[in-house]
Amino acid sequence: MRRPFIAGNWKMNLNRAEAVALAKAVAERSTAVEGVELAVCPPSVYLEAVGNALKGSKVGLGAQNMYHEASGAFTGEISAAMLVDLGCRYVILGHSERRHVLGETDADVNRKVAAALKAGLTPIVCVGELLAEREAGQTSAVIRRQFDGSLAGVSAADLAKIVIAYEPVWAIGTGKVASPEQAEEVHLDLRKIMANRYNAGLAQEVRIQYGGSVKPSNAAELLSQADVDGALVGGASLKADDFFGIVAGAK
Ligand code: PEP
Repeated sequence: MRRPFIAGNWKMNLNRAEAVALAKAVAERSTAVEGVELAVCPPSVYLEAVGNALKGSKVGLGAQNMYHEASGAFTGEISAAMLVDLGCRYVILGHSERRHVLGETDADVNRKVAAALKAGLTPIVCVGELLAEREAGQTSAVIRRQFDGSLAGVSAADLAKIVIAYEPVWAIGTGKVASPEQAEEVHLDLRKIMANRYNAGLAQEVRIQYGGSVKPSNAAELLSQADVDGALVGGASLKADDFFGIVAGAK
């Protein structure tokens, strides 16, 4: 049984007071949630404040990015150990905005995945195709290339600790959600990739979130798909009502 996992990616939004208030609201409302893993990923400068607001709750703390080196002359970067030090359990890696706006490659993501695992963080590794790639019939090839590149050298034991997020780039922040069938097709494809590279049992164990314009109104249908194990939520995670409207769809 894969436990549903809903994570909020707050991106570069909110100020400190707003972040703390939202974290407190999420922590409070999480007491009514059973059987769903929850996390929020605030901007890195607010990780500590949000972590304090979540203390004692079942909501996990996640970062939106990190650097693969352990320490040293890497101005502006943050290491996995620093995230652990702040109480992070998760780190989003290879988000499409990092890949397509900030130029991160599969090799960059791969180095980060290795460093995150070594530090004991759970990486949420994002993959997803551009609209032009989908329209050219390349979705499956893109997903395979990103999976293979981002997770090169990852052992079966480590893959079991990773969460994959399928986030079609054309659906992120656009209001254009993938249909439940489109999401399920790619999630199944990812399980086939994992079964071929590792084994069928492990392919069934790894959780795959869907991300891209998930809202309370479309969450239940997406999350009811057999191979959709939760959601990585951007815009709708900035309001506790919307976030828990999505969580309700995971039951
Ligand atoms: C995301 O940031 O991972 C995301 C899916 O954003 P949105 O829900 O706003 O499309």
